[in-house]
Amino acid sequence: MTINVIVKSANIMKPQEEINQLTKRIEELRNTIKNCNHDFATPIYDPEEKRVQDDHLGFEQHGVDCWLIPSFHTEKIPRWSRECTICGCKEYTYETSPVINSYEPIFRK
Ligand SMILES: [Zn+2]
Repeated sequence: MTINVIVKSANIMKPQEEINQLTKRIEELRNTIKNCNHDFATPIYDPEEKRVQDDHLGFEQHGVDCWLIPSFHTEKIPRWSRECTICGCKEYTYETSPVINSYEPIFRK
């Protein structure tokens, strides 16, 4: 048999007081992230999913009624992200640069 006990706190916070307190706490956390000496983990490929309208219209039917509707599909936009191992902030980028990691010999005649 389970006994449910309701404990009422002596100092129940009013909603506005709780909002003020949480707002202050959020500001403190934002400052912690802002002042962090970020230590980012290895970036990962993290494509953004974007809903794009098709060139053609779709077809919808309910009973005898039918009509054309905009049709959509999902596209993956190439994007990379990295996360700070200390504060957890995440950064995104769509930019890349070429990486040259090997060479091949050139024989001139
Ligand atoms: Zn950080």
